This record gives sequence, structure tokens and C-alpha cells, in this order.
Amino acid sequence: RREAAQSAAKDACQTADGTRIEIFANIGTVDDAVLAAAQGAEGSGLVRSEFLFLDRDTAPSEDEQHAAYQGIADALAGKPVIIRLLDIGGDKPAAYIPIAHEENPALGQRGIRVALAHPALLKTQLRAILRVQPVGQCKIMIPMIASIDELRQVRALVDRLRGEMGIATPVEVGVMVETPAAAMTADLLAAEADFLSIGTNDLTQYVLAMDRGNPAVAAGVDAMHPAVLRMIGEACRLATARGRWVGVCGGLASDPAALPILVGLGVTELSAVPGFVAEAKQIVRGLTLIEARAHAELALQCKSATEVRALARAFEETRR
Ligand code: PEP
Ligand code: MG
Repeated sequence: RREAAQSAAKDACQTADGTRIEIFANIGTVDDAVLAAAQGAEGSGLVRSEFLFLDRDTAPSEDEQHAAYQGIADALAGKPVIIRLLDIGGDKPAAYIPIAHEENPALGQRGIRVALAHPALLKTQLRAILRVQPVGQCKIMIPMIASIDELRQVRALVDRLRGEMGIATPVEVGVMVETPAAAMTADLLAAEADFLSIGTNDLTQYVLAMDRGNPAVAAGVDAMHPAVLRMIGEACRLATARGRWVGVCGGLASDPAALPILVGLGVTELSAVPGFVAEAKQIVRGLTLIEARAHAELALQCKSATEVRALARAFEETRR
């Protein structure tokens, strides 16, 4: 137990003036979880569970899923594990979940819309998560939320399954902020969600109306665009006023130039690629919240992503 306490102290990250910022890792597999733990991750802020579902002919069974989630939870030795519910559709097709041809897949059947349209799949996944020991280590995160009804439906299902399975311990249910709708209603979501985590990859695509996978517009798809940053700042303001924490699990959390801005906007959990965890901690530990806030204010006043990036470079220069 002493070893666990020592490792927790070593892993805990805070700013130079004492604001706790959790540094988590994004993972898909048990191997990723082992790597993340070795890098000092304080948990996982995004388990991309769709990895279990892609490139196969049938959906994974409850037992198969449970074994994978339990393996990840064990590798992270009691630390929080945020499992994102099946995020299929759009750029992630699965042969056994038929989705009719769509003119605009990015605006069609994807994320929680697909899961809610296939209740048996969703139920199996939720049962597999709820079976993980210790109960509560794994939290549930809902992708592509556009309205609170989706959260309510998942929460009701989780509570029903907990009742059936005799699980008294509450299990946290959080939402991803990937649509402008979720960002602008973060206060409403925060009233019923346990946490919010911003998926900056999709949020950027939907705020800028630029396909994240289209090479022709790739140069413009930058999450440091002031419109995206303002949206992140607003989501933080709205949700933290309701007492909920806001994290970032999109690619922006793995961008060293962005971290001071995100912390200054009010983000308190960063889930990055495992290889960036140690550097992320170093950056956060070298910051005060006061200077991060002032820096973020300037970023919100920039006129373009290019200007924000120049500002971020100048800020980094002051640390050398
Ligand atoms: C995101 O959209 O930022 C995200 C984390 O989800 P994915 O990249 O898997 O769509
Ligand atoms: Mg996404």
C-alpha cells in the first residue's frame, strides 16, 4: 500500500501555484494501458472501445469486452479509467452494424446515435463495463452528444442494469463535448453529467465546418482557431459554474503549445497520447494558473490560428 501511495504522489500533477491538473492517457488496448502507466499517466481519460469492435465480422461478446476492460483497469492499478462507449459510424464503419448510405456521414449515424439505435449492443457493452472490479474505477463516457436526451437515455439504461446486476455503487457517466451544441449547453449537460470531456478533433471539424479527414482542407483544420478556443472556454465556464470538471481528450491535449491555453481556459484534466504524458506534466508544473489565464485571454483575442500559434511560441520562449 505504501508503494501505491508513493506512486500516486509521484504521478500527481499540479501547476506551480497548486492547481490540480490530472494528466491522463488515451488508450485502446491493455498494452497501451501498461505503457501509459509506465509513463506516469494518472489514469485514462479516453479508452477508445471501438478498437474492440472494428475489423471483425461480429460484435465482441460481453465476456470478451469485460476481459479487455478488466485488463485495462488492472494495468492502471485502481486509477480512473474512462471508457468511451462504442463510437462507430462516420469515419469508423463496422460491417455488422449496417448504416444505410449517407450523403453526409459526419452529420449522420455516428457515436451515441448508433449505439442508441442498437440497444442490444449498448446493453452488452454497459454490462461488460459494470462487471469490472472494483466497481466505480471505470467511468462511462458518451461520444457525439448533441442533446441531453441522449445522456438521459444512457443514464436510465445504466441505472436499470445496475439494478438488475445488484450493483449499489454509483458509476459515473460523463459526456464528450464534440458538437457545438454540447459546448453551448455545457451548463445543462453539467446539471446531469458527472464530467465533461472535450473531443477537440470532432469539435474542430464541426465548429469550422471542415472535414477532419479531407486532405484538401487539412491545413485549415486547427483546433487552435480562436473560434474553437472560445467554444472550449465557454464550455469550461458553463460547466465549472455547475461544479463539474472539464477535460480534453482530443488531439489538442497532446499539443505542447496548447497546454498553457487549455489550463488557462479552465480545463483540469488532459488526456494525451501515452508518449506525451511526461512532457505534459513538465509543462503544467512549470505554469502558474494566473499566467495561464492571462495567456488564454490573449489567445481568445487572436484573429486566427496562425496568430494563436505565434502567441504560444512566444509564451514557450519565455520558459526557456
Ligand atoms: C475527438 O473527436 O477529439 C476524439 C477524442 O474522438 P475521436 O478522435 O476518436 O473521434
Ligand atoms: Mg470524436
